[in-house]
Amino acid sequence: MKNLSEIPRVPLAVLPTPLYRLPNVSTALHTNVYIKRDDMTGVSLGGNKVRKLEYLLYDAKAQGADTVLTTGGAQSNHAMLTAACANKLGMHAMLILKKRGVWEKRGNQILNDLLGADVRFVDTDDYADIYAQMDDICAALEKQGRKGYRIPVGGSVPLGSLGYVRCVYELAEQAAATHTRFSHIVCATGSGGTHAGLALGAKLYLPDCKVTGIMVDDDPFDRIVPDLMRKTASLLDYQEPIADADVRLLDMVGPGYAKPSAEGQAAIRMLAENEGLILDPVYTGKAFAGLLKMAREGAFTPDDNVVFLHSGGAGGLFAIL
Ligand SMILES: *Cc1c(COP(=O)(O)O)cnc(C)c1O
Repeated sequence: MKNLSEIPRVPLAVLPTPLYRLPNVSTALHTNVYIKRDDMTGVSLGGNKVRKLEYLLYDAKAQGADTVLTTGGAQSNHAMLTAACANKLGMHAMLILKKRGVWEKRGNQILNDLLGADVRFVDTDDYADIYAQMDDICAALEKQGRKGYRIPVGGSVPLGSLGYVRCVYELAEQAAATHTRFSHIVCATGSGGTHAGLALGAKLYLPDCKVTGIMVDDDPFDRIVPDLMRKTASLLDYQEPIADADVRLLDMVGPGYAKPSAEGQAAIRMLAENEGLILDPVYTGKAFAGLLKMAREGAFTPDDNVVFLHSGGAGGLFAIL
């Protein structure tokens, strides 16, 4: 097996991100809840996509690209962070977004504007239409002697998922330094790359730790996440079998992707009132609602140490209500 450090990346995030126990939430839930602050990755307003982009944008640079193209919904945190990270590396960003949800100049669209990203909307429900446009744009760029690099939605490709394998390596170092044995990691599952990386990383570096992804979208993650885990594992020449049953999922999508749910909104208030921390309505609020549900249903004992991944999302907070 390869060592993770053999795979090159470009440093973009401020690491390690903080990890600490939430005393009031822990008391309320009769277990030990820790928060991993990946909302503090240090580019723009922070968020999980920065770790993925460390690997993806290294690859883009290595291939001689000067322009990165990516996609998502109108309020995509991933697209906004791609623009921010591209700026840091002196590259151009083109965001080819679905004209769905809040596409007016609010939330992440304000940030995209400040970042100077080239934003284009496509009136479609199908990412295949968007990828076709990205191909056309790349062909046009090549005629001008330029080169585009395409990043699929969420950066959820094996190379991107390595960022979350590396996050577990970081967690294992933090666990060792504080003599803490983590039993669970809970994250939001949106396009699946974060969950896949964490689940593979746990196999490698925290083998006693169970990863649960809280679904905030209604894609077939029971297939997507194991598949992405296997492809990410093969980048590392990891040989052990990965069973579909290795992937734990809990559905908290509620009324739909990027539509706030009652449980998610209540969970946001719970964390804000108890710990003074702010989650977002699309991903982390629903993910924390999933953690609260697991606690209610007896998934954690008083001795468990549960890590909640705060994956960011502040950009959408003032747009999606
Ligand atoms: C993208 C995103 C997620 C989900 O990560 P995936 O790798 O797409 O599953 C979670 N939280 C926030 C804030 C995000 O922007």
